[in-house]
Amino acid sequence: MIKEHCGIVGVWSKDNKATFIAYEVLKLLQHRGQESAGISYIDGGIKTLKGMGLVEDAIDPIFLKSSNLSIGHVRYSTTGKGTIDEAQPLSNGKISLAFNGTIPNYYKFGTNTDTEFILKVLSESEDIKAGIRKLADIADGAYSIVILTSDGELIGFRDPKGFRPLVLGKIGENYVIASEDSAIRQLGGSIIRDVKPGEMIYVDKNGNIESEIIASSPVSFCSFEYIYFARSDSVIDGVSVYSARVRLGEILAEKHYVDADIVVPVPESSIPIAVGYSRKSKIPLELALVRSMIAKRSFIMPTQDKRESVLEDKFGVVKDAIQGKRIVLIDDSIVRGNTMKRIVKLMRDNGARQVHVRVGSPKIRYPCYMGIDFPTSRELIAYGKTEKEIASEIGADSVEYLTIEEMISAIGRKDLCHACFSGVYPLKFSYDMSQLESVFKR
Ligand code: SF4
Repeated sequence: MIKEHCGIVGVWSKDNKATFIAYEVLKLLQHRGQESAGISYIDGGIKTLKGMGLVEDAIDPIFLKSSNLSIGHVRYSTTGKGTIDEAQPLSNGKISLAFNGTIPNYYKFGTNTDTEFILKVLSESEDIKAGIRKLADIADGAYSIVILTSDGELIGFRDPKGFRPLVLGKIGENYVIASEDSAIRQLGGSIIRDVKPGEMIYVDKNGNIESEIIASSPVSFCSFEYIYFARSDSVIDGVSVYSARVRLGEILAEKHYVDADIVVPVPESSIPIAVGYSRKSKIPLELALVRSMIAKRSFIMPTQDKRESVLEDKFGVVKDAIQGKRIVLIDDSIVRGNTMKRIVKLMRDNGARQVHVRVGSPKIRYPCYMGIDFPTSRELIAYGKTEKEIASEIGADSVEYLTIEEMISAIGRKDLCHACFSGVYPLKFSYDMSQLESVFKR
């Protein structure tokens, strides 16, 4: 079974630079998926290049051809297989698509994956716009999509609940639709606006652009994008990811204070949370954990083996900074607890006197069926456990999490999904959750 969490890009280029822009944007979306990457473009028909690994390993730019239209994808798989067959974009010769999300009801339509399901719905419709309408009607869950057609059209669509980000911008005279604005801005582009939930952006072969709200629904944006997944320098639906993270830390300090000598973040995404904690608590911040340049995010590696091998050489410790100290160790989230357990031990082995863990999100207790690879409840460290029990399991002096209400107030949006924390799934249709779990189980 395939669940996805990915980064996507679509480019319409006035001067045939679409493929190269898509390639550069993908590199800047690398944090959203490191297992495979792919690009489709038009060169007398739809051509697709894809491969395993980071963008620069997966796609040799020497093979990229000039084109006025291109889409691209970076992926981390949650299947445990992580094969090239699962890499996107997926093309049927007439259209090629790349998507970010999970469609939990795809299996009811007789396809093997949600990507295939989208391709099937689009292929069976009279034109691409009708296909998107049909999709919005029958699909559930999270799906930000970019599509190119052999007729030279580019389409971007964000699901009606807007679970995943999608933004429209321009680099020079070229339209770019991408998962995060930071990638477009870093390439010197400007942001036109976020694609609205339920909105389709359509660019015809001449570069005429139009938009249409296809479906509307109460919005349910993924809170985890702000907590961990998106880049700190992104702004999603008007909310700065960096500022949201700082506020998570400030509220963590306000509501979950502990007397300590230093605040130490687990790099990278926890750094702004630790900045907030330190600022509010007046406890000095020390960057005493150092992440090696080659380290990949352990949480997004698809198998336990791969995760553990990544953990082996992921962090170094500045012994001088922590020896004899009482430490507030800040992390953005704890999923299985492997990483945190190892870091707490690392701190103690290097002379820390006390290690208090403070987490910038609520307890993750339920799987996600909207695009992020959280394991089943049984594998989640916080499921059915008190903070005291979690502290004892990871070897910390204490552990405290934000509550859901505290998280919502820190991010400053009321329209957030919090299903992985609360077990309340904001889906369109109702499901037997144990059946969903068995469909999505690796
Ligand atoms: S369940 Fe959690 S990770 Fe999944 S979309 Fe909702 S907030 Fe995001």
